[in-house]
Amino acid sequence: MQYISTRGQCGHFSFSEALLTGLAPDGGLLLPKHYPQIDTRTLARWRILSYADLAFEILSLFATDIPSEDLRRIVRKTYNAEVFGSEEVTPVRALRDGIRIQGLSNGPTLAFKDMAMQLLGNLFEYVLAREGKTLNIIGATSGDTGSAAEYALRGKAGIHVFMLSPHGKMSAFQRAQMYSLTDKNIHNIAIEGMFDDCQDIIKALQNDDRFKEEYHLSTVNSINWGRIAAQIVYYFKGYFEATQSEHEEVSFCVPSGNFGNICAGHIAKQMGLPIRRLILATNENDVLHDFFTTGRYKPRDTANTWVTSSPSMDISKASNFERFVFDVMERDDDPVRALWAQVDAGKGFDLGVHLDAIRNRYGFVSGKSLHADRIRTIAEVYADGDGLIDPHTADGVKVARELRQADEKIICLETALPAKFAETIVEAVGGDVAIPRPAALANLEQLPQHVTVLPNNAAAVKMVIKERLDGAV
Ligand SMILES: *Cc1c(COP(=O)(O)O)cnc(C)c1O
Repeated sequence: MQYISTRGQCGHFSFSEALLTGLAPDGGLLLPKHYPQIDTRTLARWRILSYADLAFEILSLFATDIPSEDLRRIVRKTYNAEVFGSEEVTPVRALRDGIRIQGLSNGPTLAFKDMAMQLLGNLFEYVLAREGKTLNIIGATSGDTGSAAEYALRGKAGIHVFMLSPHGKMSAFQRAQMYSLTDKNIHNIAIEGMFDDCQDIIKALQNDDRFKEEYHLSTVNSINWGRIAAQIVYYFKGYFEATQSEHEEVSFCVPSGNFGNICAGHIAKQMGLPIRRLILATNENDVLHDFFTTGRYKPRDTANTWVTSSPSMDISKASNFERFVFDVMERDDDPVRALWAQVDAGKGFDLGVHLDAIRNRYGFVSGKSLHADRIRTIAEVYADGDGLIDPHTADGVKVARELRQADEKIICLETALPAKFAETIVEAVGGDVAIPRPAALANLEQLPQHVTVLPNNAAAVKMVIKERLDGAV
């Protein structure tokens, strides 16, 4: 399988190259040249597979330059009860009203980012060892990506991680989780700004070809193709858990920010998985909801990005969205380049003429959830005896309930565990309700924290990277 850029200005990439490159050299995002097509018989065969074996089948279609026995070993090392808490890896449960919740947050950092990142850590280690290379990962996080990357890469030979996060904008738990790591290859940098500022700094470093090459920089941000590929797997798994036969359809409701999670759902649907609708849920930062209701996409600056109680969705520039638009444009890179030139000029674009196709052919609809909605939803689910859900998942459940059609089977993706966002859970159900937390994390907030605070400035970040790497043995 070969990979092409949504901007069409560079050649082909192998899976391993796509993995190590992140952003394409022409500023676009990498996608497989075509989506493999899965027929009903193959689906029936896959239905009975374990998570790891299903991941092997799906990833072999994309990672064609990794020998089968190596890939099988890597997925088994990644997707097991030891890392994800159960053999099912992503267990599906039903709420009292019939909406299903697929648990994607049972990995080491209690958020769905682990699903892709744990695989990426093992793939990086494998590819780097094979090619005798070293790699320095730079990334921006609004909370969950950073910790997932750090827990996936901590202590791995040949890899350093420089993770930018918005200073003071993450929950106490998220901060503690990242900043308490003591591994020498993990470097936390807090930027005086918002998540989008962090992301802009990463883009600036990526576009500095000399610096990027000299310091072997790469990213594991949600634009990395390896992450999208890994995420495709749980859509298939969720489908099998919620259905009896390949003639049934399901819809997925996805709490969204950077459009990475739901982009994998879009690809699963394009591969032939019987997905009726992809329901995108936003919080107050509703750039994507605007797009799916009006066809207009206009990213916002940080002054117009709200800090909310579902902070991992506080994103006003959806970095994976270009992949979807490439498909909507029938995979023609000319219009994609033109649209993103408009985005870069601060103007945004209007795809209103494609809204019918976006709804009917691609199955996309959207909804929005506010602070009061997620508080109420957490309280209602708890009162129904269905336990606690986290604020992001609550945004999803709120939107799923609102948009659900008669006899529609909806799987809402659980993108984090409530333990990560205790403040909001207490607001919803009161302080007397015990919030389950894995024993290993009992004293997390009491551990010493390691973080360097820097101004919102790419040059300052470069300096720290140079210092740490030039000083490292
Ligand atoms: C990252 C994240 C999201 C948003 O996912 P995208 O892939 O950026 O759309 C939602 N919820 C949680 C808890 C997250 O960590």
